[in-house]
Amino acid sequence: MNEFCLYCRQPIRYPFFWRTLVFPQQDIWLCDACRGKLKRISGPVCKICCRPLAKLDPAFIREGICQDCARWEEDAAWSGVLEKNTSLYEYNDFCKDVLAQFKFRGDYILSSIFADDIQKVLEHSDAELIVPIPLSPERLSERLFNQSEALAEAAGLQTVPLLKRTHSEKQSKKTRDERIHQEQVFQIEEHQPIQGVSVLLIDDIYTTGSTLRHAAKVLKTAGAAKVTSLTIARS
Ligand SMILES: [Zn+2]
Ligand SMILES: [Zn+2]
Repeated sequence: MNEFCLYCRQPIRYPFFWRTLVFPQQDIWLCDACRGKLKRISGPVCKICCRPLAKLDPAFIREGICQDCARWEEDAAWSGVLEKNTSLYEYNDFCKDVLAQFKFRGDYILSSIFADDIQKVLEHSDAELIVPIPLSPERLSERLFNQSEALAEAAGLQTVPLLKRTHSEKQSKKTRDERIHQEQVFQIEEHQPIQGVSVLLIDDIYTTGSTLRHAAKVLKTAGAAKVTSLTIARS
């Protein structure tokens, strides 16, 4: 039983239910104060990328789709490649810090914080294959573990490491056009038949959507019927 908040180290107060005497109670990973800082995304969101629409200028929304997604969809090469992303939380300072601790300081156990919410999303998914977004070998050796895989594993999901990076992660310095038109970032690792299969990609943050779309493109080209994604935060 987890006794201390994984973030602030305050003792966890478990509610007392009679049934906990019989059935072991589920672990609680964050204290109430920290849990309260993690804001679930709610209200109307972009139908494709899950960006909360309330924060956007209505001029940048078309039929429930944000302008960024609309631009991807207008491009015949990218239209429909990533069907839908679901993000769990707003990328606020708290979420940013939890994810940074998890990723950069190698605090693997922090992935447990998200497990319940990941499972709930999965209940409404038709995905037959769950594929974590891979790190490049260089990144993997810096970090020692792949955060996407850790997130899936903590939620008890069986993943298939289908993708391999052919380029490093240094995406942020590129312009949008460079990101779209660059060579393929991923390749299929295993020649597993994915013809007609619904695939769910897992990653920690949806920022530009470029990484997920490149991954989705490789999978669709290899025959996947549908590619959706689940990300912890939507920046
Ligand atoms: Zn706490
Ligand atoms: Zn969008």
